[in-house]
Amino acid sequence: MSQILTPIGDAINSFLSDSHVQLLGRAIAVYIVFVWLACAYWAFRDAQSRTANPIVPYLAAILIILFTPVLFPFGLLLYRLLRPGETVAEANERAIAEEAMLREIEAQPHCANCDRRVEAEWLVCPTCRNQLRRLCPSCSRRVELDWSVCAWCGTDLVPPPVAASRPSASGRRGVRAGAGVADATQAAIAGGSLEFRADQQAGPTTLP
Ligand SMILES: [Zn+2]
Ligand SMILES: [Zn+2]
Repeated sequence: MSQILTPIGDAINSFLSDSHVQLLGRAIAVYIVFVWLACAYWAFRDAQSRTANPIVPYLAAILIILFTPVLFPFGLLLYRLLRPGETVAEANERAIAEEAMLREIEAQPHCANCDRRVEAEWLVCPTCRNQLRRLCPSCSRRVELDWSVCAWCGTDLVPPPVAASRPSASGRRGVRAGAGVADATQAAIAGGSLEFRADQQAGPTTLP
């Protein structure tokens, strides 16, 4: 048995005592120590980007150092498990995005009567029938209720009747009354246009 083992031991001894092998072993050791220290520095910088606390980055680096050049991968794994999930920059970005979203929601127009969200182009609140805007009788564009003159075409606007902007207690009655008013106005418009036409027709005939 010893006759077989002795040559093997001699071969290993001669291999390890070889100057090239020794040099390679030292190079590998230096490389591992370099990676170990680089990982400690990486943990320091990573902790700096994830917390505003000035002590935590040093603790992260010390954790990697304490795990020695042989076991430092376990220290790295432990640090990865313990570190905060998001960086300070990511947390700031999320806070800014949330704030912008809140502002956008607040900027959305609301019905003055029922406080529900309404679209900027709606004329009437679909929930409580509150009048939000009206159409310019001249250019048919949407105008605000408190405008005294149309911003689009410059036509003087008559303030809307107070009763029309208030939701009536009985929807049916309100609709009927509205229809009555609409009928009356239509008749008035028809009458006015007839008169206008009559004037126009009468005008040129009387001139010569
Ligand atoms: Zn409403
Ligand atoms: Zn107009």
